[in-house]
Amino acid sequence: MNILVINCGSSSLKYQLIDSANEKVLAKGLCERIGIDGSCISHTPAGGSKVKEEIPMPDHVAAVNAVISKLTDATVGVVKSLEEIDAVGHRIVHGGEKFATSVVIDDEVIAAIEEVSDLAPLHNPANLIGIRSCQKLMPGVPQVAVFDTAFHQTMPKKAYLYGLPYEYYEKYKVRRYGFHGTSHDYVSNRIAEIFGQKREDMKIIVCHLGNGASVSAVDGGKCVDTSMGLTPLEGLIMGTRSGDMDPAIIGFLAQKEGKSAEEIINICNKKSGVLGLSGGLSSDFRDLGNAAEEGNEMAATALEAWSYRVAKYIGAYVAAMNGVDVIVFTAGVGENNVTARAQVMGYLGYLGVTMNEDANTIRGEEVEISTEDSTTKVWVVPTDEEMAIARATESLVG
Ligand code: AMP
Repeated sequence: MNILVINCGSSSLKYQLIDSANEKVLAKGLCERIGIDGSCISHTPAGGSKVKEEIPMPDHVAAVNAVISKLTDATVGVVKSLEEIDAVGHRIVHGGEKFATSVVIDDEVIAAIEEVSDLAPLHNPANLIGIRSCQKLMPGVPQVAVFDTAFHQTMPKKAYLYGLPYEYYEKYKVRRYGFHGTSHDYVSNRIAEIFGQKREDMKIIVCHLGNGASVSAVDGGKCVDTSMGLTPLEGLIMGTRSGDMDPAIIGFLAQKEGKSAEEIINICNKKSGVLGLSGGLSSDFRDLGNAAEEGNEMAATALEAWSYRVAKYIGAYVAAMNGVDVIVFTAGVGENNVTARAQVMGYLGYLGVTMNEDANTIRGEEVEISTEDSTTKVWVVPTDEEMAIARATESLVG
């Protein structure tokens, strides 16, 4: 079946049309500046080149309309008509405690996503607009919600509770949820496949290292801990996010800088991480790597702080699982940045890890980057969240 995978943000909409029978991506694209002047769509059909067009998109319904016209277009289209789109899979950022698996969307599901929207005020409302726009333009086509938080719902209470008065958990559901769940699930499944073992019999640490980044501990097939929390701000130092820090810093900086707590949290989300540590140089690891090579000390320190934090989380999860069989790198940095991988692996000698230097020059492919005699294995497995969403969608409505 042809599944349209939608990842809807407040002013953007990413899409892929996937034929689930052979897992081929038929087309993919991006609508940008929705609701803003100068909105445009970039569309790439499989085997063809990218076309970019300015189209007025005052709202998300217009954006979904633009996607449908590109997919069914006589020249750059890949299907004849809307009837050839059999289902839609939506990436939903926050499922709260309500959703531990993907679900077929109905009114009740929409209401439940709305209910947890205050936990992800930047994302869930946009995701809901995407759902409603597709319902409007594709009535009768089944739609599935796939949650970033769902895979982490197996975490035990000791891992997900904060050391706060319990009433805040009871009243407001303040707890750790974790994100990138689709990726952690996909990659841990894939590594078990590569090893020819059942995921249930393995201890796996997945390092999803992109602009946003998180680590998860997958023990016996289930997520037992992950580094992101109530929001995607906790955990690792990221491209622009601070990750873990003393919460007292928020009040301290608010007072010193004459800003509100909300403004400081915005800085923690958008101007911190390796961007902030490098003095605003870049959030992109390629730029930072080049700058560090040219002798920029702030860039070098930013990368060192980043890899040190990843290594600390790996150590914590080895302790949480009482061991580890394989550590897997994925996402933009994990798949491509050989220096960042080498820096993290430099901390793993106590696990019997030695790096295969030749293998660690490979980018964007499934490859073992530890040596044959490493007691703990280290692999790179490219993630594919869209394919995971398409699979989840097919398993529910196929
Ligand atoms: P993501 O959020 O998963 O798209 O990852 C984005 C990050 O991946 C950016 O910081 C990029 O610098 C990094 N990245 C992507 N491709 C490469 C590459 N070929 N070499 C080094 N870093 C890369």
